[in-house]
Amino acid sequence: MSDRRVLVNLRGLLTPDPAQAWAVDRIPDAALALSGGRVAWLGPASDLPAAWADAPRVDGGGAWATPGFVDPHTHLLFAGDRAGEFNRRLQGATYQEIAAGGGGIRETVRATRAASVPELVASGEARLRTFRERGVVHLEAKTGYGLELEAEGRLLAAYAELQRRGWSLAVTLLPAHDLAPEFAGDAEANAKAVAEDWLPELVRRQPGVARFCDVFVETGVFSVGQGRRIFAAGQRLGLTPRVHADELSWTGGAELAAELGAASADHLMFCSEAGMAAMAAAKVTPVLLPGTTLFLGMREWAPARRMVEAGCRLALATDFNPGSCPCQDPLTILRLGCLQLRLTFEEAFTAMTLHAAQSLRRDDLGHLHPGARAEVLLWDLADPLELVYWVGEPFRPRYLPS
Ligand SMILES: [Zn+2]
Repeated sequence: MSDRRVLVNLRGLLTPDPAQAWAVDRIPDAALALSGGRVAWLGPASDLPAAWADAPRVDGGGAWATPGFVDPHTHLLFAGDRAGEFNRRLQGATYQEIAAGGGGIRETVRATRAASVPELVASGEARLRTFRERGVVHLEAKTGYGLELEAEGRLLAAYAELQRRGWSLAVTLLPAHDLAPEFAGDAEANAKAVAEDWLPELVRRQPGVARFCDVFVETGVFSVGQGRRIFAAGQRLGLTPRVHADELSWTGGAELAAELGAASADHLMFCSEAGMAAMAAAKVTPVLLPGTTLFLGMREWAPARRMVEAGCRLALATDFNPGSCPCQDPLTILRLGCLQLRLTFEEAFTAMTLHAAQSLRRDDLGHLHPGARAEVLLWDLADPLELVYWVGEPFRPRYLPS
């Protein structure tokens, strides 16, 4: 086959092992054999099988090779920004005061409702390019700043167009991101509209585009019971649950995610020990978002270490969004994973590659073992540990020539 090639002249190769929970292979002087856009073999260059002797070589330039990052929680599409609100918060205004003045998520919802599909596609593509320059090769992207059928429909249409243009993204329907202003605080009626009208209509308009659905299960937003009803409607439409869970208080979101067999439970700042055990048993991926904790100025970090000890295969994500984490930088998240969540470098790296991909039901991403897509990052570093160690450096990977 003409697309067979071997990546050589690597200082080393670092990859999680998909056959194990937390094992990371570190291979000095490595080679990587690729065929049909996928990994066919990896190992020390001196062990390259004879069958690859005549395959064309790609010069790695002495770099370290790693799999690309996968970001399993973003709110990629929204209009407007909230930099002014951020400064008011720095000057002492509380989130509640800003919300009472019509700011907060309501401001983003107003701007997003006014945006056209081409405008949403243009800003989404610029953001996807930024993510890719920083090493993110696949990401999850939610709707949720429409909070009504037509605006959610435009967000979904924009995601469909981005997928058509070749961007690798997993779409999640999140019309239950907050209570819609039209429902004037009636969460029960809002949940009924999402479950019975909006989700079926969105899937009918753009079949096959969304893979997941999500609900903000939180005190004062949607209850566990309302979440269960929306997720059941989503599951009937073929959408796998991901749950905004236990972010601001314990609500039983992790337990709900386990009960539903959700792909992930996300945030989990206030997750219970029972919730951790339930997630481990049900193979729900906890997705932790330390950038949000940082940006909101909170002092308590999600209990990552206790989750690992409970047997959870946790993932890390940016939570890129305009209100609580306007961060598109995987290295910031990797560093917070090590410095604040107290994960080892290998654990944080696995959480941002293999476990992130597994939470998106992708076994061909997040590692460089045979069968993986050839989404290889090349880092011009003496050692991958430097990604965390040089804490403020904006390292950028190189990609293989196509
Ligand atoms: Zn979120």
